[in-house]
Amino acid sequence: MLEPPPPPPPPPPRRLVVVSNRLPLVLTRDADGRLVGRPSGGGLVTALLPVLRDRGGVWIGWPGIVDHDDEVKAALVGAAETAGYRLAPVALSAQDEAGFYFGFSNEVLWPLFHDLQSLCNFDPAYWRSYCDANHKYAQVVVAETAADDFIWVHDYHLLPLASELRRAGVTAPVAFFLHTPFPPLDIYLKLPWRFALLRALLDYDLIGFQTLRDQRNFTQCLRALLREVRLTNRAGMAHLPDGRDVRIGAFPIGIDANAFQRQASSPTVQAAVDAMHAELPNRELILGVDRLDYTKGIPLRLEAFRTTLRRHPELQKRITLIQVVVPSRDDIPEYRDLKTRIEQLVGEINGEFTRPGGRWVPIHYIYRALDRLDLIAYYRAARIALVTPLKDGMNLVAKEFCACSVDEDGVLILSEFAGAAAQLQHGALLVNPYDLEGTADAIYRACNMPQSERQARMRVLRRAVSRQDVFRWVNSFLEAAIASDLDAFPLPDDYLPSAEAETAYWQTEFAE
Ligand code: UDP
Repeated sequence: MLEPPPPPPPPPPRRLVVVSNRLPLVLTRDADGRLVGRPSGGGLVTALLPVLRDRGGVWIGWPGIVDHDDEVKAALVGAAETAGYRLAPVALSAQDEAGFYFGFSNEVLWPLFHDLQSLCNFDPAYWRSYCDANHKYAQVVVAETAADDFIWVHDYHLLPLASELRRAGVTAPVAFFLHTPFPPLDIYLKLPWRFALLRALLDYDLIGFQTLRDQRNFTQCLRALLREVRLTNRAGMAHLPDGRDVRIGAFPIGIDANAFQRQASSPTVQAAVDAMHAELPNRELILGVDRLDYTKGIPLRLEAFRTTLRRHPELQKRITLIQVVVPSRDDIPEYRDLKTRIEQLVGEINGEFTRPGGRWVPIHYIYRALDRLDLIAYYRAARIALVTPLKDGMNLVAKEFCACSVDEDGVLILSEFAGAAAQLQHGALLVNPYDLEGTADAIYRACNMPQSERQARMRVLRRAVSRQDVFRWVNSFLEAAIASDLDAFPLPDDYLPSAEAETAYWQTEFAE
């Protein structure tokens, strides 16, 4: 009998082409006024670096300054040598920056995808600029890509990129990951370009979301708006009339948990933590860390903190909120107004509770970006993290706080509306950020939680954060991209809560 032929060897992994709005790059000018580029850090870059180095590849994006084409290209050569992979710039004009970036991306998609449709400015000129800029990104991708590459596109700035690429004849597989939430049907329907954008998304081969809830919102939009699309595999596969299949999945992003844990245990961080505790002795430190953004719920959080001090006067002088706000988009009126509102509230609350001669100031307000070690020192020094966004794709601050809680006794108070709540619901105290008294009660509970409960909860959280780290996220996304059946690609039960488990905490509340 003839031996069956041996299976063919697996094809070599495809070269990776990453496309994001911005290149992972910091550009500065040297003493002679020349532009110098150096690679920037961040979890996504750290996670993709080994893949880009092993398989080879290129990162395509906007370098962050307009109309400096040749100068930027020269600076990128130096940055690429340090980074270990190629960096290819997309040249955007000041007009693109205004219409595509500040306009459609940040005045339409950002608020809409965070359920804040009343903040949207549906200016038709923004849409045209968004399509033009995506065309410019596509031109660079076409120039940089071969048919056997794998193209991975990131985030809401580039939703129609696959469509542009297909039009230009690109046949390589193209996958997309949305870092923000995807809104429910009723909110998505407000978008004047709802059909065009949904159809454009279906030109990807794989579409990844942060949570099952986002995935469900998306498939609900498909069901309601595009009748010709057939969903199967528990809505993990969309079959199109032209015979193409699009995979749809949830891939909650993680952090480089080991690196945070290692740095949190370093002598430098320990010394900074000791100094902070010596400055503020016998104090429960509560930490908030957010970019200046209306989705982060900072004013409501401050109000909840005020409610705590009013409802539980015994906590006065015992607790201090350290609120770090990282400047962001503060040349936009909404963001400037938000900053004013935050500073007004901090002033009001400190004014209400500070006593003459007393050493206690209820809120320490920091308005600047911290460097990584300072941030980690705050994570470690704080007993409680207050992470209460109105809506968030994931929220990495919540995960970083857990990874840095190396003494395993921190308490995470987390908004139900952060993507991270799906994974961290068992160890965190979940709150509705609109519920001031409920949030105040959670702060009170965290302040009085016995050490044994704090430790038990933090262990659960730390296990989830380190198991589901950013490296696993990259691997699971890339595996899903080549799996013929999303259902078959192995995700352990603890990786992703079921759709029912994701909302189980509401049902518990109803049952009470
Ligand atoms: N971060 C930072 N400097 C700071 C404060 C925060 O680099 O002074 C980082 C933080 O480590 C985290 C990111 O900013 O990785 C915030 O991510 P998150 O998902 O919480 O919110 P985003 O700003 O992306 O909406």
